Amino acid sequence: MNDFTAELALRLEEIRRQGLYRELRRVDSPQSPRARMAGRDLLNFSSNDYLGLANHPRLNEASIRAVERFGSGSGASRLICGSLACHHELEEALAAFKNTEAALAFSSGYAAANGVIAAVIGKDDIIVLDKLVHACIIDAARLTGAKLRIFAHNDLNELEDILRWTNQRAVATTSARSSRTLIVTESVFSMDGDFAPLREIVSLKEKYGAWLMVDEAHATGLYGKNRRGLAEELQVSENIEIQMGTMGKALGSAGGYITGSRTLIEYLINRARTFIFSTAPVPAASAAARAAVELVQSPEGLARNNHLWSLVDQIKNGLRQNGWTLSDFPSAIVPLIIGAEADALAAAAALRESGIYIPAIRYPTVARGQARLRLTLTAAHTSEEADRFFQALTSALPTPHSALRTSP
Ligand SMILES: *Cc1c(COP(=O)(O)O)cnc(C)c1O
Repeated sequence: MNDFTAELALRLEEIRRQGLYRELRRVDSPQSPRARMAGRDLLNFSSNDYLGLANHPRLNEASIRAVERFGSGSGASRLICGSLACHHELEEALAAFKNTEAALAFSSGYAAANGVIAAVIGKDDIIVLDKLVHACIIDAARLTGAKLRIFAHNDLNELEDILRWTNQRAVATTSARSSRTLIVTESVFSMDGDFAPLREIVSLKEKYGAWLMVDEAHATGLYGKNRRGLAEELQVSENIEIQMGTMGKALGSAGGYITGSRTLIEYLINRARTFIFSTAPVPAASAAARAAVELVQSPEGLARNNHLWSLVDQIKNGLRQNGWTLSDFPSAIVPLIIGAEADALAAAAALRESGIYIPAIRYPTVARGQARLRLTLTAAHTSEEADRFFQALTSALPTPHSALRTSP
C-alpha cells in the first residue's frame, strides 16, 4: 500500500471504530416503498419521495418525451450553449406554483443553496443560521467568508440577540456598500421534522433590517392551500427574500430551485457560480420536475397529500401508544431517537432482518449521541404497510430508546 492509500485506510478504520462507517446499499428496483436489495424485497421507509412521484407514470412519460425532444445531455452551461426550452418551462411552472415573479433551476438543491448564498453575501456581511440547517447551507456560509453566527435550534431569543448585535456593530467594510445580514433557516427540518417559527422570524428580520432565506426542501408540495410550502401555510411568502427548494423530494425528480423577485433571478444568472460554471440539468430531470409541479397542484396532488397525512397520524398514534415521545408537528419525517450510534445501527439491522429498510442517521448528519432511525412515510405506502412497519419496530425495539443495548 502506498502512503496515500495507507493514510486513508487508517482514517477509515477510525470512522469504523466510532460506528460512523457508511456504505452504499445497491437497489435493483425503482425508488418506491418496495425496494429490491441484495435479492430481497424490503419495505422502504427511508426515502424523501413524500408524494410517491419518483416512479409515477406521468413523470416517467414527461422524461421520455423530453429525451425524444431534447436528447439526453444538455451540452454546457445555459449561458454558453443556449438555454433549453424545457428549463424555461420548468422555471415558469415553478414561479407560477410558488406565486413569485421568477424562478431559477439548478442541478441540485445543494448547488442552489451554494450558488445563491455565495452570490448574495460576501466577506463583509453577516450570515445567521439555525443550528440544524442542512450541510449545503453551512458549506455555502463558510464559502462566503462572511461572519457566521449560529442560533440554537428555533431559539428566537438567541436570534434576536444576534440581530441586535449586528445592528450595533459599526462595520468597517472594504466594499462600497454597507454590511448586510442574511438569516437562513429550513422551514421543515430534515432530520427532526419540526417547523421553524417563520412568522416570528419574519417579524425579527423586519425589525432589524435583515434578509431572510428559507429552505423548503421538506415542505414544497406538502403544506399550504396550494401546497407551495410552509411559507404559504403561515402566510409569510411575500416577506421572504429568497425561497429555495429541491425537486428531488416531494417533486420526485432532481434539481434545486430558487424563487423570488425577477431582479433576484437576473442577479443569480450573473453571479451564482454553481449556475454559471455547471452544465445545465438534463432535459429529463427538468421535464419530470415540471410534470410534478403540475401534478402536485391537481386533485391527485391533494389526494396524495391527504393519504400521506392519514398514514402519518396512524403511525404516530401507534408509536405514542407504545411509549415513544414524538413531536406534534404534522410531518412525514418521524425521528425515532435511539442515542448511541452503535445502537441505532443494531436497530436498523434488526429491522432489515424483518424486511424493513430504514436508515440509521448518525453524526455528522445529526449530533453525536443523537443517532436515530429516520422514518419517512410517503403517499405510495399503504395503511397495511405502515402497520407492518409498526409490528416490526415493536418486536425489534420492545421499549423505546433502549433495547438492543450493545455491550460496552
Ligand atoms: C436534500 C436537501 C437539500 C439538498 O437538495 P438536493 O437537491 O438533494 O441537493 C437542501 N436542503 C435540505 C434541507 C435538504 O434536505
